[in-house]
Amino acid sequence: MSQTTKSKEYDVCIVGAGIAGILLAWLLGSQNKKVLILEKNAEINMNGADILKPSGIDVLEKYGLFQELLKKDCRVRDKLKVFHNGNHVHQIDYALENERGYFMVCPYHILLETIYDKIQKISTIELRVSQTVSKINETDKGVDVTLNSGEDIFCEVLIGADGIHSIVRNHTDIKAHFTYYDQVMYFKKYPITSSIEEINRLYVDEKGGLAYFYPINKTEARCILGFKKDEGQKLMEGGDLKIVIPRLKQFITESDDILGQIKNLEDFCTFPLCRMHTEQYYKGRILLLGNAAHSIHPITGQGMNLAIEDTGELFIWLSAYFDRTLTLDEAFSGYQEKRFDINHKVIEYGHQLANSFETSDLFINSLNPKVQTSSRKLSVLNNI
Ligand SMILES: Cc1cc2nc3c(=O)[nH]c(=O)nc-3n(C[C@H](O)[C@H](O)[C@H](O)COP(=O)(O)OP(=O)(O)OC[C@H]3O[C@@H](n4cnc5c(N)ncnc54)[C@H](O)[C@@H]3O)c2cc1C
Repeated sequence: MSQTTKSKEYDVCIVGAGIAGILLAWLLGSQNKKVLILEKNAEINMNGADILKPSGIDVLEKYGLFQELLKKDCRVRDKLKVFHNGNHVHQIDYALENERGYFMVCPYHILLETIYDKIQKISTIELRVSQTVSKINETDKGVDVTLNSGEDIFCEVLIGADGIHSIVRNHTDIKAHFTYYDQVMYFKKYPITSSIEEINRLYVDEKGGLAYFYPINKTEARCILGFKKDEGQKLMEGGDLKIVIPRLKQFITESDDILGQIKNLEDFCTFPLCRMHTEQYYKGRILLLGNAAHSIHPITGQGMNLAIEDTGELFIWLSAYFDRTLTLDEAFSGYQEKRFDINHKVIEYGHQLANSFETSDLFINSLNPKVQTSSRKLSVLNNI
């Protein structure tokens, strides 16, 4: 296959319709670029992250999305109370740690739907669901892609925004280094309680226990529980509340109202936790974006934020390429230079924090309020 055959042509083909893929498609489509998004699932996933930190908000604000989200069912918050072994050990105040002074909790589906609605109004963006790539062949002029439907398309640039198990990454042979954590986390929504309304609380304990409670809108709250893998499996699969609740009460000391709402251990969503970073972000005309290039421990609340920051940055460099101010190689290497070290340092921060629960001192020393509130200043990140 080559560009001269009758393949449909696009400026950019994006594999994966998560936050990174959808946001990039909208930004490029707003500049009249012809974009194809391929999503392997039959529908766009509307369940996921709900914390937007200042670094992610900055990007959304720059492109006018934040102002829109503020009018929707999202919450602005500014404090986090932190506990170790049940003792209150720190309080992070965004007003003191970050110029923006607050973060936002916004149900993932609201963020995605806000962008998705915009995409549907742009005629140069085509979204195909239940579709993925089966063959990728890079040439001098672009990338020939065979879809799993058998159709061939041609694009100038191919973006792998297909998450942690990226098949685009596998195709490029870009090496990714994975470290799986001996930890498991469980996520569920509950009706909001007064302790959650009052302040966000993060608890950890010396045995690897973790709990994080925060509102996601006016009526619902997120309950996140974490344990070392063996303990988590025993507790959650055993399903005995008479064992689980006393274990949680060993380190959760100010949230009895939310613990009182846990009536069973079913329907908690869970997934393996890992640190991952690729050795590079691009090869030729193919670039990896967001979780296709990295994964961070959720205790930082920054995975989606990094994906949003990556996307805002890539859009700047791709625009310069499409204006023909830069070659594609210059654009991709400029992007990588901007993002790689920041992502690396924030991922390392998450790794240190996730491995620091053993003693209160170690945990407090590892908790960096500036990085936790998503400072991207090199003077701050270089201390990690
Ligand atoms: C339950 C949960 C809670 C989280 N909470 C937070 C939080 O509060 N704050 C935060 O910042 N981060 C959080 N994260 C992390 C955050 O959700 C991710 O880092 C972020 O969604 C990454 O976005 P992405 O677009 O790069 O990848 P993804 O969201 O993984 O999207 C990838 C997309 O590609 C699709 N896809 C995969 N393979 C293929 C293929 N072969 N072909 C076509 N499509 C494909 C997938 O179906 C998916 O739609 C959380 C994650 C989870 C799971």
